[in-house]
Amino acid sequence: MYFDNAEGPVFRPPSEADSLILRVTIGCSHNACTYCNMYRSVSFRMRPQEEIDAQLQQAQRYAAHIHRVFLGDGNALVLPMERLLAILAQIHALLPKVRRVSCYAGPKDMLRKTPEELISLRQAGLKLVYYGMESGDDAVLAHVNKGVTAAESIEAGQRIVAAGIKLSMMVILGLGGQEASARHARNTALAVSAIRPHMLSALTLMMYRGSELLEEFESGRFPILSPAGIMEELHLLLQDIELPPEHHCLFRSNHISNYINFAGTLPKDKERLLSESLAAKDKLALLKNWDPYNNVER
Ligand code: SF4
Repeated sequence: MYFDNAEGPVFRPPSEADSLILRVTIGCSHNACTYCNMYRSVSFRMRPQEEIDAQLQQAQRYAAHIHRVFLGDGNALVLPMERLLAILAQIHALLPKVRRVSCYAGPKDMLRKTPEELISLRQAGLKLVYYGMESGDDAVLAHVNKGVTAAESIEAGQRIVAAGIKLSMMVILGLGGQEASARHARNTALAVSAIRPHMLSALTLMMYRGSELLEEFESGRFPILSPAGIMEELHLLLQDIELPPEHHCLFRSNHISNYINFAGTLPKDKERLLSESLAAKDKLALLKNWDPYNNVER
């Protein structure tokens, strides 16, 4: 729920369906990933405190029972420390039942915060960060204009985990297309293994109207993977993720973009997930005609 009529679309992770969406920024300050059109229609801005207070006062009036708050929009950690700490303090003052504050975060913003600052944010109530790392491969990251290298991506994720903030990471199957599939899978697995997130979601590439990646696909410059190719990539990814036996990473591949759903805990369920993804690949390989526009926004 949100109490706001500011410009632009509102996005949130599926698991924040019952949260108050507190829009502390509008849009995304990066707004340049070639596969994403989420915030192309709006200019990025940090919202003044009065606009945030107005949303919180409405929430205090109509949703004082709320336990969770999600800070929107695309990368709330871009706000300076003093603004974030003031917002977190105001949330807890006006909504005392709140137990978890979360947000999307971009890698550059995570890296701009020192380890000590991230700890202060956790102590002030930021409990969960959603991070779309998408790939651990330098060439794939450069191709989609993510704005960071794999090493920077890994460091960003590690900083969140080291600060004691829960990290929910997203990666995109198929983001390297046919040419980079195996390398994308292997390097993403290496990055996941180095970061050790608490949650990992493997989405399948969707292409959106107005995005540069869709233009590349439609002009033949970006051949995409078949459904069986996506399953092969998932298999490779899972195969190469190495986490300590005591680690508990909730793994999901059940987004609307995915052909077949998978769920488990890594590393405990790795062998099961490997055999399920292999079986899924064999099943999808039997598809004689698959529609390459299946995952394209109509
Ligand atoms: S994928 Fe995330 S960081 Fe990239 S442009 Fe979209 S909202 Fe911004």
